[in-house]
Amino acid sequence: MSQFWSPGVHQLTPYVPGEQPRQKLIKLNTNENPWPPAPGVERVLRNFEIERLRRYPDPEASMLREALAREYSVAPEQVFVGNGSDEVLALAFQAFFLHDAPLLMPEISYSFYPVYCRLYGVEQRTIPLDEQWRVDLDGFEGEHAGIVFANPNAPTGHGHDLESIKKLLQRMRERVVLIDEAYADFGGESAVPLIDDHPNLLVTGTFSKSRSLAGLRIGFAIGSSELIEGLDRVKNSFNSYPLDMIAIEAGIAALADRDYYEHCRRAVMATREHTRQALEAMGFEVLPSQTNFLFVRSTHQPAADIFAALREHGILVRHFNTEQLNDFLRISIGSEAEMQALIEALGEIGAR
Ligand code: PMP
Repeated sequence: MSQFWSPGVHQLTPYVPGEQPRQKLIKLNTNENPWPPAPGVERVLRNFEIERLRRYPDPEASMLREALAREYSVAPEQVFVGNGSDEVLALAFQAFFLHDAPLLMPEISYSFYPVYCRLYGVEQRTIPLDEQWRVDLDGFEGEHAGIVFANPNAPTGHGHDLESIKKLLQRMRERVVLIDEAYADFGGESAVPLIDDHPNLLVTGTFSKSRSLAGLRIGFAIGSSELIEGLDRVKNSFNSYPLDMIAIEAGIAALADRDYYEHCRRAVMATREHTRQALEAMGFEVLPSQTNFLFVRSTHQPAADIFAALREHGILVRHFNTEQLNDFLRISIGSEAEMQALIEALGEIGAR
């Protein structure tokens, strides 16, 4: 508490991201990619002429937006970029969700959404997941300021197919439907092809997961030019440079190497399946996942105890200390060797 803070600041409860430990641990807690960025990214960084940093970056990030437009078969005017999808989401909340009605979101979803609601004074109404821990798309109804959900969902991992998303969009035309596709590249279906028929659909994505560039903070949104203009208006009132020069150039290099991207995302999905089988064989309940993480529950031990014992073994996973999620652990998919170490450690702990 401070007398210097604006009154609203006292009420804020900031999002606390997963720990970034200093000591060397097997880090399976923030859904980073075990593969290095594409080789072209290394070339960009090695050959970068430091002298160029005197200049401002391109305020339009045009070349990156054009590269994304090619990747998703849309026009550059339908693409927005920002510092990680967290920032893109924040700008979208300001641009689209400040209406006099509640924002609809799943009860269990990315925990940044409620943080932004508090930050921007947006009322929220949460929709319970169905009995199989899936986002209940039919539950989105009634008067609202907009809809936000992740597809596939985090931290549960289930993704809806395009047909179900289409059905939702047919019912929802008044306000913006924001689909956060941070994890869609690991087996989910992207809603980008639905944008042409739905000017109220905004899809966000990130280079932090399938492109192995979490450290550079590159996020994007794809939607009608009307929505992109809304985001531009908010962004330019705040910081007219969406990304730094290095992020722009590295992002372009990451998109350019399609084979490497395919290789890495397929490898992550294969490791996910090996890990799922091993965990199930040990007796864990593992929710179906179309992401680069698994959401798992032990039928015998409190998740908090397994979390602590794994940490003793030098392995960091994610445990959410909330009533609903208390029984689960979220385990990011690391390398095959890291997942093997996880399985061995769980065996030594006697977890099942
Ligand atoms: N959406 C979801 C569902 C996430 O889990 C994350 C990663 N924590 C993000 C968005 C943000 O990713 P970034 O800011 O790194 O693009």
